[in-house]
Amino acid sequence: MNPVDRRTFIIASVTASLGCLMAGRAQAQLQKVEEGEPKAVAVGYRHDSHTVDQARYPKHAPEQNCANCLAFYPSDEEADEWGECDLMSDRRVHKKGWCSSYKQLKV
Ligand code: SF4
Repeated sequence: MNPVDRRTFIIASVTASLGCLMAGRAQAQLQKVEEGEPKAVAVGYRHDSHTVDQARYPKHAPEQNCANCLAFYPSDEEADEWGECDLMSDRRVHKKGWCSSYKQLKV
């Protein structure tokens, strides 16, 4: 490996490592959303999709939840039941949760 290739490799490796560390730290710093927060109340967010007020949200179906919503990003840790959401960008939501902005993930 010539010196330029080695330098490029080292810079790329360090950059990738820092990116991974920062991504992990950013996720760890996000707080779990509270159902009583204004942004959660505004969209009827519940931690458990089965507790959604069906009269208020007649289009809700029990099988709908954050885990099968287009906006949900599950945690890298399999045991972690919380993930990130495009809608609640600074909070984490429960994978069994639901809100009125739910969009079916197409597979
Ligand atoms: S947009 Fe989707 S992932 Fe986010 S809270 Fe609503 S149902 Fe859950």
